[in-house]
Amino acid sequence: MTESTKKMEFKTELKQLLYLITHSLYSNKEIFLRELISNAGDAINKIRFDSLDQQDDLEGNKDWKIKIIINKELGTLTLSDNGIGMSREAVIENLGTIARSGTKNFLDRVKGQEGKTKPELIGQFGVGFYSAFMVADKVEVLSRMAGKAEDGICWISDGQGEFTIESKPKAERGTDVILYLKETDKDFLESFKIRSIIRKFSDFIEHPIVLEVLGETKDPEEKDEVLNSQKALWLRSKSEVTQEEYDTFYRQISNDFQEPAKVIHYTAEGMNEFKVLLFIPPSLPMEFQFGDVKIGPRLYVQRVLIMDNCEQLLPSYLRFVKGVVDCADLPLNISREILQQNPVLERIRKDVVGSILKALKDMKKSEPEKYLKFFAEMGSILKEGLRVDFENREKVADLLLFNSWKTSADKTITLEEYVSAMPEGQTEIYYLAGESRAQVEFSPLLESYKSKQQDVLLLLDPIDEFSLPYLQDYKGKKLKGIDRVDSSKSDSDAEILEATKSRFAGFVEHLKAKLGVVSDVKLTSRLKESPVVLVSESGGFSASQERFLKKIGKAQEGMESKRVLEINPEHSLVLKLRDLYEEKADSPKLQAGIETLYDLALLAEGSKVQDLGGFMKRVQEAVLKGL
Ligand code: ADP
Ligand code: MG
Repeated sequence: MTESTKKMEFKTELKQLLYLITHSLYSNKEIFLRELISNAGDAINKIRFDSLDQQDDLEGNKDWKIKIIINKELGTLTLSDNGIGMSREAVIENLGTIARSGTKNFLDRVKGQEGKTKPELIGQFGVGFYSAFMVADKVEVLSRMAGKAEDGICWISDGQGEFTIESKPKAERGTDVILYLKETDKDFLESFKIRSIIRKFSDFIEHPIVLEVLGETKDPEEKDEVLNSQKALWLRSKSEVTQEEYDTFYRQISNDFQEPAKVIHYTAEGMNEFKVLLFIPPSLPMEFQFGDVKIGPRLYVQRVLIMDNCEQLLPSYLRFVKGVVDCADLPLNISREILQQNPVLERIRKDVVGSILKALKDMKKSEPEKYLKFFAEMGSILKEGLRVDFENREKVADLLLFNSWKTSADKTITLEEYVSAMPEGQTEIYYLAGESRAQVEFSPLLESYKSKQQDVLLLLDPIDEFSLPYLQDYKGKKLKGIDRVDSSKSDSDAEILEATKSRFAGFVEHLKAKLGVVSDVKLTSRLKESPVVLVSESGGFSASQERFLKKIGKAQEGMESKRVLEINPEHSLVLKLRDLYEEKADSPKLQAGIETLYDLALLAEGSKVQDLGGFMKRVQEAVLKGL
């Protein structure tokens, strides 16, 4: 070790990560190559982008290349790029001391399932570099930053907790990653193996990947063999691309290992010309579970990558979509600020949104099973569109699937189907929200609708009740939550005879006085079998909304909206209590009965009973009496 060599320790989380990588990831080791090549490609894209206004940094070298060098004698495999390179600080930060946000997530994810972990996931957590230690017991990184005449920097580690760093001359700009292969992984020195891995994982990398086998005599005139096809799929026409190529490309840009659920590929002509190649993933992308979601497709301007994720091109409610947009009408050196308010991007975005919604519609129609799975995983995100995309609201609404009391639990219904099945006389679309089907399907609120054979959508996703109201109406039919005070028509009142009302007046007042927690007590005709039900004021939150807000910690103290207690004047329990009231308004029996009645209403809407002990005692007594 020379004097200038510095020994440093990996950050704790990285130590754990490295331990895991070296001790428990044995399958699919070949993905290390994909990760290192993707880093090399990123590095080249960076210098190419920077050089658009920093010509000097290029040092006259624009021959973008990723080189794989096999040295059988030393047992090393080297990945060499002429990308942007790294400074001393960058090496220390990127390869040792900064534990990226992904590190911990990755560790959490694999905890307790070592051995079963899919190494393919590594790249999704931004820790791809370390996959080198799956096959190497020593890794050396030699790098020199673009435009810096000073020495390069050499980083060495055996992946055991420490690394050393020292200055070292390097003639060319860029980075060499030298892998000292483990005894068990020497097969990665076979060129046929390298060739097939590149074809499998990195065929579409846009820079040439060339292979050099040291010791093999080669005609100096002979050109380097390029291993990847470098095909920019999106530039080709649909008929020239096979499904397999789409699948491979999707895997490459998404880090997913499945096939896409849907491919969207077209060229737009007209005011602006641009090519679009987008994918709808088959299941929720991994990063969505960890919060580090990058929105938007890659943006290319005539094959030059401008940005990995162009947010301006995709509204957040379609953030699960991955892919590429290549536009010929943007200047190459476009800055991020200019992108923000560029009318061309605005037009592309509109077009892209339209085609994604159309693709989803097609999928729903022609591949219902696939769509069902898509909707189960990404439907909640899609629904945000009702709130944020006023223009496309109807189209988003057409894509929604619901449960209803008429469907069986595993079946769904669309709004369109709902509307066309509405019986004569029904003018609104009814819905009721709750946490689960079991909880809402026997709600007293459904009784009158069931008796009239009117269907009611059961909203079981908490986001429904927050997004559906933005739709207001669908095909001219208003949407209406049935757990609300009925203010529009006095349905309840009209059907309840004046005579009934007057016979209950005193009792209703008494209930109001005794049940301070409710804002009002009313007679209703909406109930058939149940004695009482709680409803919300039309503007306030519903019971399930309140429970949801509480659960996610967004509920504010004292914000609870008061409920209205509606009572069924024909129910024997209600009649009995009223008689009791007329006999003796201050009897303890009456008081117990009223409290139990209210508790039943709470239970029916899925809420908790306040005085559980008292409730249980009252019920036990009642049961005993009945036996
Ligand atoms: P990610 O690529 O997701 O950022 P990695 O673990 O693969 O995560 O790489 C970590 C970082 O190390 C990269 O973000 C980059 O800054 C740096 N890096 C890795 N390889 C290279 C390379 N060949 N050239 C320049 N920088 C690199
Ligand atoms: Mg990487």
